[in-house]
Order: sequence, then C-alpha cells, then structure tokens
Amino acid sequence: MSKTKFGVNTICTHTGEVKDEQFKGAVSPIYMSTSYAFEEVAVKRYPRYFNTPNQEFVSKKIAALEHAEAGMIFGSGMAAISTVFLAFLKAGDHIVVQNTLYGGTSNFIREEFPKYGIDFTFTNGYSVADFENAIQSNTKLIHIETPSNPLMTITDISAVAKLAQAKGIKTTIDNTFASPINQTAIDLGIDIVIHSATKYLGGHSDILAGAVACSEKDREIIWNVAKNLGGSLSDFMVWMLERSMKTLKLRVKKQNKNALKMAQYLAQHKAVKRVYYPGLKTHPEYALAKTQMKGFGGMLSFELQETYDASQFQKRLQLIKPSMSLAGVESTMLSPYLTSHALLTQEQRDALGIGKGLIRFSLGIESLKDLKADIEQALQSLH
Ligand SMILES: *Cc1c(COP(=O)(O)O)cnc(C)c1O
Repeated sequence: MSKTKFGVNTICTHTGEVKDEQFKGAVSPIYMSTSYAFEEVAVKRYPRYFNTPNQEFVSKKIAALEHAEAGMIFGSGMAAISTVFLAFLKAGDHIVVQNTLYGGTSNFIREEFPKYGIDFTFTNGYSVADFENAIQSNTKLIHIETPSNPLMTITDISAVAKLAQAKGIKTTIDNTFASPINQTAIDLGIDIVIHSATKYLGGHSDILAGAVACSEKDREIIWNVAKNLGGSLSDFMVWMLERSMKTLKLRVKKQNKNALKMAQYLAQHKAVKRVYYPGLKTHPEYALAKTQMKGFGGMLSFELQETYDASQFQKRLQLIKPSMSLAGVESTMLSPYLTSHALLTQEQRDALGIGKGLIRFSLGIESLKDLKADIEQALQSLH
C-alpha cells in the first residue's frame, strides 16, 4: 500500500514510525546515540547530519503531510528559516519578504543580512502587485507568510508562486499559522514549506522545533548548509514531536472550530470593536482564504472598544492564559503591542495596524462555552 494513499489521520498516526524490531513495541523507540559505526553501514549517521533514525523517520511524516518529496527537522523554527535562506542566498542576491512578517524572521533579515551582503525588500502590502513591484534583477527568493501574524492577512499563494516561477525565483512559505492540516502550499506551486514546529506540529507548548518540506533536490541544497550551521534537533525532542503529531489533525480541527465560533461570537459582541479572522465573511480576503485553505486556523485577533483596557482585561482572565507563544491545546492571548511588536517604533506599529487594544487569541481545544464564560467574567469585572 502506497503511503500517499493514506488519509491525513493515518499519516499523523503512522507515517515515519521507527519499527521496534527487537521488542515489537507499539511506538517508535528513541535512538539517543550521537555515535554510529562508519564501516559496513548503508548510511553514516550523526545527529548534526539530520539523519539519526528518529530524525529521518519523523521527516517523512512532515513530508507526507505537506505533499512533498522530502522533509527535514530543525532545532527551532528560526533554525529552519535561517538555514533555508542561507542555502539559497549569497552576497549580491536579493530576497523579497512581505511586510507582515514574523518578528524573528524580520530581525534575522534586518540584523544579519547586511553582514553577508544580501539585499532585501519588505513589500508595502501583501498583494501580488506588491511582490511584483519589489522584484529586482538579482531577486533569488520570495518568502511569504499566510495567514500573517497578528492581523491574519491572506497572501495569494498560487499567484505569488506563478509570478516567481515565471522569473525563475524560488519561493518559500512560513506555514506555521495554518499547519499542513489547513494549507498545503506545495500543491499551490510553492517550492519550500517551513514550519515553527514549536506551534501546531508540537501543539502542547513543550517542544521547540522547526521543519521543512520540499523536493529531494532542494533538500540536498538545504542539507549542505544545515550540516554547517548545525541547527539540528535532539532525538528525545524528535520523538516528542512524533508523539505529538499523531493528534495533529484532531487538535487542529477542534482549534479551527473553536476559532471560527469564537470569531463569530466576538464579532457581534458590544465590547469588541473589530475581529480579524479569515473565516469571517467580513474578512477582506475571505474568498481567497476559502480557495487556498481547508480550514481557517486556530488563530484570531480582536480589538476591544476603547472603554476597555486590553491589558487589564487579559489579567482578569482565569482560564485563558497570557502567552508569548501560540498553538497549544490550551487557549492563550497576548498583546502584540507589548510583546512581538514592542521593539518596533510607534510609526511602524501604526503602519501595520497594531494598536494598544489589539489582542491575539490562540484557540485551544477546550469547551467553547468555558472560553466564552471566561471572557464574559473578565469583561464584567472591568465595569
Ligand atoms: C514562532 C514562529 C517562528 C519561529 O519559530 P521558533 O520555533 O520560535 O524558532 C517562525 N514563524 C512563525 C509564524 C512563528 O509563529
């Protein structure tokens, strides 16, 4: 039976298992060795070569979920992103990234690329025209992020991929917010999919990891740089990731459902000024999101009316936790103004539409009624 025939839940549960030939246990054994034989072996293995048994096998699960030929697991999302960028860019090259970009990626580009003589452009918006206008003769890479953080803007994946292909430019996507359950960008023409596996793939707020899915050929190019940069993941964490991913689809489906219902609830709430969620018909790119996403994701943002203090509101919550991160089975909130976008200037924040009242909400898998009740009691305690 071919692996590609498996349904998504079967891929989550079984693809990439390390068979326990010795004791016939039900789950993958962990191979903690950092030292392997070098003669009379088919593969010379070493953790920094990204090819221990656990690393190699869980990569197959990621690849299968993203409809890619190959996968790779990294020590963090940023290890994956930085390695991929440095694999395809050299001095004199140029990269186009969208202005609504994950803060860590933006910092990496702004702080490190000048040292290597790599040129970059942040687009003015996230329309195809914005990308087209940013392309130069030395552009080698276009990197997109959709839905974006924290305003859930939607970039047209196929249109950007087509634009890049016509000009021989490689494309990468940060698929962290969508997860492979909601969005498989390789089907839409993107070359390389990148994840912070710290988020939905891990899903329990206890793993820091990154992942890449792409063609065999691109994997080879990435691997050659990855082994030099050394951003690999320890086998215990790889094993934790495999365990966590067995429930990926179950978790994400529930998070999608909670987020959609919560977005609808907040959208009609007197205390709420605005909701940003691609699954709402009022979202400017709802129609586009529908064509490229299978679910709208577990992330939303909202603004409280000015009469409510967003910071005080979050302090009054009893169930929903404050958190710098996202995508766990527990619901969390944060103020982008005070956290992810705190280092920007007021002007930059205004340009991105990130005000004091904005709250980013990562929906967990709890019963929706309890989340609503928590929000109600917090709002009431403020008045
Ligand atoms: C968290 C995150 C990253 C960075 O991942 P780490 O695992 O923290 O290194 C990259 N992109 C997005 C969209 C993220 O949310």
